[in-house]
Amino acid sequence: MPLILYAFRCEAGCGTTQRMYSMNDRPDVVDCPDCGGPARRRMASPNLGGTGGAAMALQDATRATADRPAVVSAPPPATARRRPVSANPLHRNLPRP
Ligand SMILES: [Zn+2]
Repeated sequence: MPLILYAFRCEAGCGTTQRMYSMNDRPDVVDCPDCGGPARRRMASPNLGGTGGAAMALQDATRATADRPAVVSAPPPATARRRPVSANPLHRNLPRP
């Protein structure tokens, strides 16, 4: 059973503390490390999505293309642009724009 990082917020206002528990034996309330009072488990796990690795990197890269597209400094080389559009030899006789 993998350990998951859970966040607990002190009811007295000391702040949040984080502990690792497996999903089966996570407590709803732990003792606050500062005042010893009850600290309730927060609803959202703070490291959800942080363990994605390659999946998160792919999402970040995809999102980046929307506002930070790859910029080229020059048009593609002439040999790449002069490729014929059609392989039909009759099309070579058509007027050029
Ligand atoms: Zn406290």
